[in-house]
Amino acid sequence: MHKAVVLGARFGGSATAYWLHKLFARDQVQVTVVDQWALMTYRPSLVMAAAAHPPMADQWHIAMKRRCETAGQHFIRDTIFRIDPERQLVYLATHPPLSYDTLFIATGSDPGWTSIAGLSPAIGGVCEDYLARETGARMRDSFSSIALCVGPLFQSPTDSPRLAGSLDAPAFEVAFLLDAWFRKQRRRDEITMTIVTPAAVPGEFLGPKSQELLSHALAQRRIHLIANAQYDHVSALDIFFKNKRPLQADKMIWVPPYIGSQLARISGIDDGYGWIPVDEYCVHQKWHNIYAVGDISTTALPKIGHMAMLQARNAVHHFYARQHKKKPSPVQPYVLHVGWMGRGIGLLTLSDWLYGGSREFVHIGVSSALAKAMFNHSYKTFSGWLPVMP
Ligand SMILES: Cc1cc2nc3c(=O)[nH]c(=O)nc-3n(C[C@H](O)[C@H](O)[C@H](O)COP(=O)(O)OP(=O)(O)OC[C@H]3O[C@@H](n4cnc5c(N)ncnc54)[C@H](O)[C@@H]3O)c2cc1C
Repeated sequence: MHKAVVLGARFGGSATAYWLHKLFARDQVQVTVVDQWALMTYRPSLVMAAAAHPPMADQWHIAMKRRCETAGQHFIRDTIFRIDPERQLVYLATHPPLSYDTLFIATGSDPGWTSIAGLSPAIGGVCEDYLARETGARMRDSFSSIALCVGPLFQSPTDSPRLAGSLDAPAFEVAFLLDAWFRKQRRRDEITMTIVTPAAVPGEFLGPKSQELLSHALAQRRIHLIANAQYDHVSALDIFFKNKRPLQADKMIWVPPYIGSQLARISGIDDGYGWIPVDEYCVHQKWHNIYAVGDISTTALPKIGHMAMLQARNAVHHFYARQHKKKPSPVQPYVLHVGWMGRGIGLLTLSDWLYGGSREFVHIGVSSALAKAMFNHSYKTFSGWLPVMP
């Protein structure tokens, strides 16, 4: 039987496992999923935890191991140590080497906490449950300034499209949610809020209409924006730039720099920058039985969960077409994103602007927030295997 191994079980890995289950009979392909966690932390909900609601960090764990096993797939909870593409083996920390015929890699990007001098998770983060929980608790302290910072995205110079920030959307979401919460607590007038981003505009991957709406909302809510930031170093209370005056902040919340994957580097399958180079079907440019989907791939731009799910669909359909000697058709990339704006509203963007297209549907309001809440709850209820997958 054909052995398919899926590395990672968050947005990309879970959707890959779903499509393998959907397209192949159990006796055709044996699927093994590997992740260091049996429970997936659902990142889109961490912004609420960081915005002064720390218990939320523990309410968004999804039983991916159980989801895969219920579907007859194997799930190995272990740390992936190295991939040997020549011998088609995955080396794990505590299990014997795992052999594969086809490998799907969805292990994401490493956070580049050490790529800016002085920066560390202790300064404040939002991207994992333990960081969002701690950050959320700190928001209840008394302080007078906060910076929400987006780290750079260290892309290969040849990648396209270009993005300056790792992922700016969560920083805006936390800022808007905190703005609303501080107002409720009657603390807003005491607190200066600043978003810092290497991008030229807020919402750099969204499109001009959404960017304008974000700029307007920032001005209206007195949230300052420092764009085009080039970080030099960071201390507990200051951010120093190469191209701007320093910013003092009592509290900071960072979406860290994205630096690619150490696993890809040490396995010798990266593009020289830690990202896995793939074609439009997510097939590795050199190793044709390896697919990479989600944040770890060169083509996942922006690095969002929706893109990871689209790529998983693309990759498994390509694998299916290859197995059945059919002609695959690649999924055209588009951005679908809803950001919380606080005050019960959300900003929905459906756009192919980043890829040179002209489509940009934007809606700001309560129904967009409801759509996001519904998606989040469906994702949790169905453990990522939605009745209708993107
Ligand atoms: C705060 C925040 C909010 C976000 N909000 C949104 C949103 O609203 N909408 C949206 O579309 N996107 C959002 N994103 C982006 C989204 O979460 C990511 O794009 C998505 O998680 C990428 O999925 P992935 O499967 O590629 O990688 P990851 O999510 O990074 O998952 C990688 C998986 O691989 C496992 N893994 C990695 N290395 C190893 C190893 N060596 N051994 C074993 N296991 C390993 C990890 O445990 C993890 O489960 C948000 C991100 C953040 C940080």
